[in-house]
Amino acid sequence: MDYIDLVEVFEKLEKTSKRLEKTHILSNLLKKTQKDDIEYIIYLVQGRIFPQWDQREIGMSSKLIIKVLSSVTGDSANEVEKLWSKEGDLGNVAFILIEKNKQRTLTRNTLTVKKVMENLRKLAELEGKGTVNKKVQLVSELLTSAKPIEAKFIVKNVLGILRVGIAEGIVRDAIVWAFFDKEINFDYDEKENNFIVDREKYNFYIEKVQRAYDLTNDYSKVALIIKSKGIDELAKEKLTPGNPINVMLYQKAENIEDAFKIVGKPCAFEYKYDGVRLQVSRDKNGNIKLFTRRLEDVTRQFPEVVEYVKKYIKADNFIIDSEAVGYNPKTNKYLPFQSISQRIKRKYDIKEMSKKFPVELNIFDIIYYNGANLLNETFRERRKILEKITKQEKLKLVLANQLITEDKNEAEKFFRESLAQGEEGVMAKNLEGIYKPGSRVGYGVKIKPKADTFDLVIVKAEWGEGKRSKWLTSYTVACNHNDELLEVGKVSTGLKEKSEEGVSFDQMTRLLRPLIKEEKGKNVIVKPEVIIEVGYSEIQKSPTYSSGYALRFPRVIQLRPDKSIKDIYSLEDIKKEYNKQRK
Ligand code: AMP
Repeated sequence: MDYIDLVEVFEKLEKTSKRLEKTHILSNLLKKTQKDDIEYIIYLVQGRIFPQWDQREIGMSSKLIIKVLSSVTGDSANEVEKLWSKEGDLGNVAFILIEKNKQRTLTRNTLTVKKVMENLRKLAELEGKGTVNKKVQLVSELLTSAKPIEAKFIVKNVLGILRVGIAEGIVRDAIVWAFFDKEINFDYDEKENNFIVDREKYNFYIEKVQRAYDLTNDYSKVALIIKSKGIDELAKEKLTPGNPINVMLYQKAENIEDAFKIVGKPCAFEYKYDGVRLQVSRDKNGNIKLFTRRLEDVTRQFPEVVEYVKKYIKADNFIIDSEAVGYNPKTNKYLPFQSISQRIKRKYDIKEMSKKFPVELNIFDIIYYNGANLLNETFRERRKILEKITKQEKLKLVLANQLITEDKNEAEKFFRESLAQGEEGVMAKNLEGIYKPGSRVGYGVKIKPKADTFDLVIVKAEWGEGKRSKWLTSYTVACNHNDELLEVGKVSTGLKEKSEEGVSFDQMTRLLRPLIKEEKGKNVIVKPEVIIEVGYSEIQKSPTYSSGYALRFPRVIQLRPDKSIKDIYSLEDIKKEYNKQRK
């Protein structure tokens, strides 16, 4: 496929915010796409070049792009930068400059999707001496052949700022619309922005595609299998230790009684530990890997966990689900998540960190054991296997503290004990429940004491004034609504001037600065990647924010680097809390 065909789709996607219309545009593109390009297209529309969990990054800074643009167009770096501050987006700058230089660029070859992808991937693979120059060369090669509109999107893809609003749910639906349109009797009414299908059949295919995604975490792979081998091959996708899969998520229950209603009686209550969720796998060669719930590989960051897993779990190969909880090495008392959160992204002094902020691994589930997929086993069975294969050692590796009961008073007592130990609350789990990756089904729920906080993502920020002008000091936060981000307020309190005291302005600025997409005066728009827990005193209806709600007295409680945009609260959650206030 020529790259320009994909670019035209990017443009169409940019022009609409309607989810169904986006799905329709993408599904039409997928229908037309040859097998060899399917994988590329699906990554590129999501602004990626590899699967989500892949650690490789393009690693091009805005500065370097300015250098490339200057060398390709002959404009000085100064001029490019000036235009950037006017336009606020380097993609638009690329468009303007290449358009202006049309006559000069004579070497125009037709760019294909494959060529663009190959160069982008090479960027992520370069290492060592001369890397910078080679990167400049690879991007220059693309830009000299690019039409202005192609240049715009190449730059956006290189910088990771392409946002055409294609969330995972849209990719899934588009795959079904594109490849099974006949089976589901698909019809799309453009005027009404609506689609008609045979619901039962539609859900059947959606389920199959979703399940394959839950195992692979890669819609490119899923689409390629369907296109080249057919739907039946999807069911053959296997769990493989070493490849991360989406972890199971839990709904919220109001209290113990509510929990019994959702998960049934009797059920298993467990302490809810306040740490980092780790999916731990061991392949048949004995290689151990640790992934966060965002599927980042953190094996290197938690060397002591690798050691404990080797020592205390007796099985050839497995995938287990657990929470690593920090404790104070002097007092052996548990610490809240925040104390160990810095270990997740740490690249140096790892040994020291593991001494200063050690963790205990609390294991609560197993989904693969000695070659067998346990996703469809009951929780009761899975726990039995865990009990059989683990040797517990306090402050190193233990099983989640569990109580099976149908008695409300016993459960309440267990809840209080958990809080007294410094834990967050309890989980209640259906003993007959299977393990469903990625979805909030009712097989397990969390119960926490009432705390008015939401996990939200930062979408905009503002530079401070006076002595704070070097920092971004105010943050607009958003919730999720059908893969769209809706704003719920602006937070500027709860941060500290010094990092020893908590989350500091400096720390936040360092996180947000590389994510800036657009800058106008004091205001910046950032890539929605930084998740924070926000406290508030009340929720109000408000026309100011796109969600229609605003948080009163919002404050930053803590950073949640372990969470991704998938984990933030939804508009539904906010509505629910709002309605509760009214009661
Ligand atoms: P939340 O982060 O509030 O959505 O709560 C769910 C999280 O609690 C899970 O993702 C785990 O990281 C964590 N957790 C702590 N203890 C347990 C447990 N015993 N079972 C399941 N999840 C747990």
